[in-house]
Amino acid sequence: MSRQPAPRITTCPLCEAMCGLLVEVDGRRIRSVHGDPEDPFSRGYICPKAAALADLHHDPERIRTPLIRTGSDWREASWDEALDRAAEGLAGVRRRHGRDAVGIYYGNPVAHNLGLLTHGLAFRRAFGSRNIYSASSADQLPQMLAALRMFGHFGLIPVPDVDRTDFFLVIGANPLVSNGSLMSAPDMRRRLAGIRARGGRVVVVDPRRTETADAADEHLAVRPGADALLLAALLQVIVSQGRVRLGRLAGRVKHLDVLAAFVRNLPPERVARRTGIAPAAIRRLAAGFAHAERAACYGRVGLCTQRYGTLAAWLQQALNLVTGRLDEAGGMLLPTPAVDVLGISARLGWRGTVGRWRSSVRNLPEFGGELPVAALADEIEHAGPRSVRALLTVAGNPVLSAPNGQRLERALETLEHMVAVDPYLNETTRHAHVLLPPAPPLARPHYDLALNAFAVRNVAKYAEPAVSGSPGQRHDWEILVELGARALAPRPLRRLVTRAARALRPERVLDLLLRLGPHDLTLARLRDMPHGVDLGPLQPGRIAGRIATPDGRIDLAPEEFVREAHDRLFAEADGDGTSGLVLIGRRQSRSNNSWMHNSRRLLKGPARCTLLVHPADAAPRRLATGDPAELRSEAGAVTVPVEVTDAIRPGVVSLPHGWGHDREGSRLSVARSHAGASANDVTSELHLDALSGNAAFNGLPVTVRRRS
Ligand code: SF4
Repeated sequence: MSRQPAPRITTCPLCEAMCGLLVEVDGRRIRSVHGDPEDPFSRGYICPKAAALADLHHDPERIRTPLIRTGSDWREASWDEALDRAAEGLAGVRRRHGRDAVGIYYGNPVAHNLGLLTHGLAFRRAFGSRNIYSASSADQLPQMLAALRMFGHFGLIPVPDVDRTDFFLVIGANPLVSNGSLMSAPDMRRRLAGIRARGGRVVVVDPRRTETADAADEHLAVRPGADALLLAALLQVIVSQGRVRLGRLAGRVKHLDVLAAFVRNLPPERVARRTGIAPAAIRRLAAGFAHAERAACYGRVGLCTQRYGTLAAWLQQALNLVTGRLDEAGGMLLPTPAVDVLGISARLGWRGTVGRWRSSVRNLPEFGGELPVAALADEIEHAGPRSVRALLTVAGNPVLSAPNGQRLERALETLEHMVAVDPYLNETTRHAHVLLPPAPPLARPHYDLALNAFAVRNVAKYAEPAVSGSPGQRHDWEILVELGARALAPRPLRRLVTRAARALRPERVLDLLLRLGPHDLTLARLRDMPHGVDLGPLQPGRIAGRIATPDGRIDLAPEEFVREAHDRLFAEADGDGTSGLVLIGRRQSRSNNSWMHNSRRLLKGPARCTLLVHPADAAPRRLATGDPAELRSEAGAVTVPVEVTDAIRPGVVSLPHGWGHDREGSRLSVARSHAGASANDVTSELHLDALSGNAAFNGLPVTVRRRS
């Protein structure tokens, strides 16, 4: 009797949760993907997307050979020819128009890719362009800017100690579906149940009764765009009742007086109308949070992607700080990852930058070397010395993930040259002239360099490739190395540069970083522990040593935040938002942003790209569940089926992002058969968080009407 080979042990690379996987392989075929019960972090948990990694691997539409555009069609090419064509196009544009003429866009999967993290930065630096963009500015820039101004380092973003907290206040986040974001935490259902089992409390603030809100003790249906006001009112109650306690950070904080003076003007009564939360409920929430023995206030994508995202992120951290939750067990802590990315970057002087240059058209600020993706269409379309004439996208689909995707799409059509490093001909990459497909995720080694810095427990795990690669395949980082050498190095030196860069494999860099880390680990030691190693709970008292502001103190009221609040937030407090409908997004457990929609197993079942409408808004529009409706904003319109539900607050409608697979020219037949509509055909590149330039997807005024 033949024995089945042991399953390969690896880590799911799809999201921040880093779930451990067991992959059964038969030759080159993946037979199954299961959760790894011996993984110390995820303990066997996986979500539906993990099994779909097999679909991704075997998808006949996943591109395996480089493609070169021929008019409206494509032809397969050798790696040599495709890399030469891609590099010549980029180099030619750089030569003719200058270094800023080559733009680069990095998609979200880059954060989960060891090789792209170890080699991507050098590639970007080598090109020297000021037109760098990424998914960060459609997601988390407000948290990073708040961290930079308050703590002096854009990566100093504390994570909730969910496994020990007694009061978990969740604002604009849905961790039951995301399994944490800037908070890696697989199996959030178990973790939330744990809080309640030990007598704690979970409160969710969100315009929608999300999956997390359904599992919580209390849901407060805030009006979109009002999180900063709600947080200011919570702070007002705490300050006015003398409940401030700075705990162990007391000697390291400045401008408490400025914060107190600012929030004094925003009591619950003043913000009640705009937030939609009654003063009594705000006072009760403030008291509950302040009184709890251990509490943590966590805010994520919904909190960031609104017009006052940076102010909300600031006030969220301020709430944690003035109630003594920062740097305490059960509050907000800094992990101690095996690769100390925060410490290394601080030692190298990479604490974060803002405003070193600005976008040409709308004067939006650079942040950490990048411009906001909301500026990308502008920078392509305008004719100026710094306009983008060629674009390289790496693991990104900004046509579906950036605001006003239709305008961006039109702009892409005007580029002189476009190269995509991507496994699919998707809604964005179909505009490329050359497509360079990387090896699939399960064929590459895995270590989460970035996301362990946000994990709710200190863990480390290195995984060898779960499946062997196909002959001739290249990893993303190898493609960038070859592309960079061919585009930038003098011809006689290209081979030498490529060889030198390839010799420094990601695994070697990882080994070095582990040796420099705080846990005395090496790659060899991690290889001996294939399920991963538990390095213990997060430790209190780490933040004080990491404060990187010039005077070594946490700034509770950064000047530009207070100024922005005075300029705009007070006026907002006295308004009621909009008298019409506003749009918010939503995340779905069977979607991974704009990709993984070519997996039948993930798409089966009822249509998921639906517009949630409250019965009170549906009735006057004669809308019932299943009816097609036109959703329109100033930026554009889509037609989507309606789902009438009281899970959304009146005056708000919700459409998930990542859909809209009906564009001609993509090769995603399964996705096309469940196309849905792109929320970003409606969102606006002009609707921004002013301080960071982050896209404000939520709170956008829209109209909804029945389509016959
Ligand atoms: S939650 Fe799902 S997608 Fe995320 S790492 Fe775990 S299995 Fe993968």
